[in-house]
Amino acid sequence: MRQLLNALVIGAAMLLAASTSAAAQGKWLSRQVDGIMGTRIYVEIWSEDDAKGEAAIDAVMDEMRHIDDSMSTYKSTSEVSKVNALAAQQVLPISPELFKLLTTALEYSRITEGAFDITYASVGYMYDFRARKRPTDEQIKAALPAINYRHVILDPVAQTVHFSQPGVRIDLGGIAKGYSVDCGIEILQKLGYTHALVNAGGDSRVIGDRFGRPWIVGIRHPDNPEQIIMRIPLVDSAFSTSGDYERFFDEDGVRYHHIIDPHTGHSASKVRSATVIAPTATRTDGLSKTAFVLGPEAALRIYDGLPDVDAVLVTPAGKVLYSKGLQPPEGTPTIRTQ
Ligand code: ADP
Ligand code: MG
Repeated sequence: MRQLLNALVIGAAMLLAASTSAAAQGKWLSRQVDGIMGTRIYVEIWSEDDAKGEAAIDAVMDEMRHIDDSMSTYKSTSEVSKVNALAAQQVLPISPELFKLLTTALEYSRITEGAFDITYASVGYMYDFRARKRPTDEQIKAALPAINYRHVILDPVAQTVHFSQPGVRIDLGGIAKGYSVDCGIEILQKLGYTHALVNAGGDSRVIGDRFGRPWIVGIRHPDNPEQIIMRIPLVDSAFSTSGDYERFFDEDGVRYHHIIDPHTGHSASKVRSATVIAPTATRTDGLSKTAFVLGPEAALRIYDGLPDVDAVLVTPAGKVLYSKGLQPPEGTPTIRTQ
């Protein structure tokens, strides 16, 4: 749903851009592909040559497929699946790309004080939100000691990974999409594109603007996909939104959803949605789960300590909280839109 919403908002900006004279020499090309990394990929570029533009979008999609093939835990042949199968028993050599992303993932565990933790999967693999399946309390209790990013031992010289105890599983679902968006953007930058957007699920990044106007992205209401609670203008920036409405099921008044608290193995519900804005999508993805786990105050303290990060959080009570950089100036009236 959110992808649709983004496309809608972006589409509106597109009409504005098309009417400006600076844009006379080329046109916007876009493509949407479903089913890569379990989500929809959307790429839009300003291109002066149709064939070259389409080839550039092909290259971005190929890169996304490559990342999906090597990082997905849904694919038994992926490198990450191999790591999950073997790294508790042996010290395993891995590709430079996976080594780098694992290193980055552990950095985000430290930055977020353990809220972001790829070993969440040690319990997380037992959830199936589509099938309304969740682990029992006993299963969680038994598997919980395996959740701890410190169990992932990386050797930068040997380029190996090792899990320090049995039962550890990793899943890069919380950072691989952001990473793939950055890889897509890098491909476009290398090819010389100066106005572009790449979106994968909740993670997006833009190059440049839309000829004098920013790209506009919307944050949806957690309970109503049609209602946009805030529009954010973006230029040369990335943003990720995480929400408890993305993959979930409700049972006896409890929402079970895809963001897992590494301390409890249960869904993390201290906010309903979190949007993070920063220069890269790896960064925004790595940070967008924090408030669900730590709560809005602790998350804002972390975000406000990072000079290149901004955030908008929606609490369970419906309060919209902003990081320092987005805080409305004192005295600004609050407008109730509903
Ligand atoms: P999207 O997949 O739409 O980008 P998010 O960025 O919110 O959504 O990422 C949610 C995913 O992150 C989950 O589906 C899961 O794979 C992973 N995840 C869940 N809990 C955690 C956690 N505590 N730390 C790291 N990753 C997590
Ligand atoms: Mg994400």
